[in-house]
Amino acid sequence: METIFTKIVKGEIPCYKVAENDRFFAFLDINPLAKGHTLVVPKNATDYIFDIEDEELGAMMVFAKKVAKAIKANYPCQKIGMTVIGLEVPHAHIHLVPINGVNDIDFRREKVKLTDEEFKEIASKIAHSIE
Ligand code: 5GP
Repeated sequence: METIFTKIVKGEIPCYKVAENDRFFAFLDINPLAKGHTLVVPKNATDYIFDIEDEELGAMMVFAKKVAKAIKANYPCQKIGMTVIGLEVPHAHIHLVPINGVNDIDFRREKVKLTDEEFKEIASKIAHSIE
């Protein structure tokens, strides 16, 4: 299946990349709730996250854990909140968002406007903190 996110993974659409391995890819959400808001996707597109095969889903979570630690190292917060919505893009993705309270992960909130330079700096900082 071809999606906007598979195009991002293949480099056909630009993104602010944070991390990748052979199976998963992480990049900044273009309409973030906070600095550091990152999306984690499997390279092999499945629409609904709970249709992903068990082993792949487990590995996706382990990959998201590494990314979450790197976000938290750069954007101090109480926790990295994790949510899956998936109503907009039919390619399963985990949202990772720095939070200090439940309102910080309310998708009805106004999003943060960032410049190209700011996005680049955020992605670079997180990428350099991936262990
Ligand atoms: P959801 O499918 O989880 O409801 O929302 C999709 C999320 O993907 C939104 O937070 C939106 O800002 C983000 N998004 C949609 N299209 C793009 C894109 O082309 N690039 C990036 N970086 N994020 C996107």
